[in-house]
Amino acid sequence: MTDLTNKSALIIGGSRGIGAAIVRRFAKDGARVTFTYSGSHDAAQALATETGATAVKSDAADRAQVIEVVAAQGPLDILVVNAGVAMIGDPLSFDPDAVDWMIDINVRAPYHAAVEAGRRMPNGGRIVVIGSVNGDAVPFAGAAAYALTKSALQGLARGLARDFGDRGITVNIVQPGPVDTDMNPADGEIAEIVKPFLAIKRYGKAEEIAGLTAYLAGPEASYVTGAMHTIDGGFGA
Ligand code: NDP
Repeated sequence: MTDLTNKSALIIGGSRGIGAAIVRRFAKDGARVTFTYSGSHDAAQALATETGATAVKSDAADRAQVIEVVAAQGPLDILVVNAGVAMIGDPLSFDPDAVDWMIDINVRAPYHAAVEAGRRMPNGGRIVVIGSVNGDAVPFAGAAAYALTKSALQGLARGLARDFGDRGITVNIVQPGPVDTDMNPADGEIAEIVKPFLAIKRYGKAEEIAGLTAYLAGPEASYVTGAMHTIDGGFGA
């Protein structure tokens, strides 16, 4: 457990997978949680009922909606940007608009959400963005565009850590390896590609990523900032 009692937290992209695990963990740890979703209305409502969190429909691909939903929360103690999409495949066959859409969700949304949160965050606030081990390593073909979006988050964390550091606000990236979710099921096509690279021979669980995120959002992580935190079963070792 991490003590997040009475902390106000916003999770961008919390309806499913890793985001939903973070919502559950933060709610258990005592935070007042709001989370956004885009397409998964039923899952979002069910999670809100289960945890007592508030679900808000907001499309992370739309800059105005991202800024608006962050601003609407007032002074947030904790912002987590988890929403992400992955396009894995031959870059020569990708629709350029789809690639730009992924960049909007994976890069533009975290940047604007973090800056907007930083405007009114109290001293000692926490910003965590869910990146990927592919921000550091791309040991198979077909992941250039996705890896680009996750590498970009590293610059975001390093830069904003310095912009907000004098207020004790920390900015960190969590970099998961393969985690069993709708995006990357443990029995899916990607699993066959990535399994040989794992030191721990199984997929990660969303709850394991939520645990590291809770630590970074909590009081013990006050001296951890501008840093990437890989949690990947040894994928990148
Ligand atoms: P899922 O596809 O299982 O869930 C994605 C979540 O993001 C959903 O809650 C979804 O909400 C939300 N989301 C996606 N697009 C938008 C949008 N436009 N607006 C608002 N919310 C959105 O993915 P994971 O849980 O696996 O991934 C979560 C994060 O972890 C991503 O950033 C991903 O890149 C990263 N990651 C995942 C890994 C894995 O192996 N699973 C490995 C490394 C990193 P909704 O359905 O309501 O639109």
